[in-house]
Amino acid sequence: MSAVLTIDLDAIGANWRLLRDRLGGVPCAAVVKADAYGLGMARVAPALAAAGCRRFFVAQLDEAVALRALLPDAPIGVLAAPVAGFEADYAAHALTPVLNGLPDVDAWARFARAADAPAAILQLDTGMCRLGLSPAEVEALAADPGRLEGIRADHVMSHLACADEPDHPQNAEQLRRLRAALRRLPAPFAGAPVSLANSSGIFLGSDWHFDLGRPGYALYGGNPVPGRPNPMRPTVRLEARILQTRDIDRREHVGYGATATVEAGRRLATVAVGYADGFLRSAGGDGAAIVSGTRAPLVGRVSMDLIVLDVTDVQGGAAPGDPVTLLGPGRDIDTVAAEAGTIGYEMLTSLGSRYARLYTGTGEVTGA
Ligand SMILES: *Cc1c(COP(=O)(O)O)cnc(C)c1O
Repeated sequence: MSAVLTIDLDAIGANWRLLRDRLGGVPCAAVVKADAYGLGMARVAPALAAAGCRRFFVAQLDEAVALRALLPDAPIGVLAAPVAGFEADYAAHALTPVLNGLPDVDAWARFARAADAPAAILQLDTGMCRLGLSPAEVEALAADPGRLEGIRADHVMSHLACADEPDHPQNAEQLRRLRAALRRLPAPFAGAPVSLANSSGIFLGSDWHFDLGRPGYALYGGNPVPGRPNPMRPTVRLEARILQTRDIDRREHVGYGATATVEAGRRLATVAVGYADGFLRSAGGDGAAIVSGTRAPLVGRVSMDLIVLDVTDVQGGAAPGDPVTLLGPGRDIDTVAAEAGTIGYEMLTSLGSRYARLYTGTGEVTGA
């Protein structure tokens, strides 16, 4: 009776191809950090490779080492990991470091002068204040280009803070700052290829595309254009079964804290999914699931292992053993996340390890 998470690898492959097509000839990488946003890198990354993806990004060094074992030849960029002290690990696994500041630059240059080092990505901070060289650090390199000696350039990257809000002035401002910084960069990064766009950035238009797209969320079905129809295919379906039903014959309170009140005449169903499975506790107020095609609202708090649904309106009556859709048709990840007061990114990466996981498809092209 445990819940089943079905992950559609063909849909992930189709999403990658849609993003590639939106990039209009600019290559499209795939970001598979955090275990491919919770969906399982071991299955997702080979499916993306089968779909045609040639370049990958992860956040951490151990994620990169695991991905290297899956994809022996693909370029793998490591977005958010220390460089100094780990140079030999990058080299041993042919990983592409992202140099996020002058200390990274100095450490990698020292290493690259002494050993056969992979090419490196240089990240510029264009206004997010998270990772990357500041304009002052770029000026320091411009004034002392010898500091980069020994380094081979893979490309130059930056990251957008507000790409999901196309009208936000920061998008144009980051573009302006990036172009200004690129003009100041000395060799080997002068004239190197550039990547800027995440999923939403790809939809900002070709000015943001440069030489490589770096989508993550949209590959997994998340909406890169909030407020507009989602162009991506859904990739996950979470289904569970009703454990018990109960007909309420007097006013009662439901769940921990007795926070919800139900009146006589309601029918409740208990389902074995809870916050330990990533069904966020904050969904308690507004959440819902689909039972036999009908929206069944969540009643009371989400427990660790259980939720209670109001199935009074389900046609033909809901019964133990009936399937419940928590994510899937009619319950897209953006909506479910919004009901829990968060974003689909967090919901996907919170999906627990207790589900039976079922992968369908291969990611490969069928008829394209
Ligand atoms: C996570 C991440 C991405 C992918 O972003 P999405 O919004 O998931 O498409 C791209 N670049 C960097 C630097 C990231 O950290």
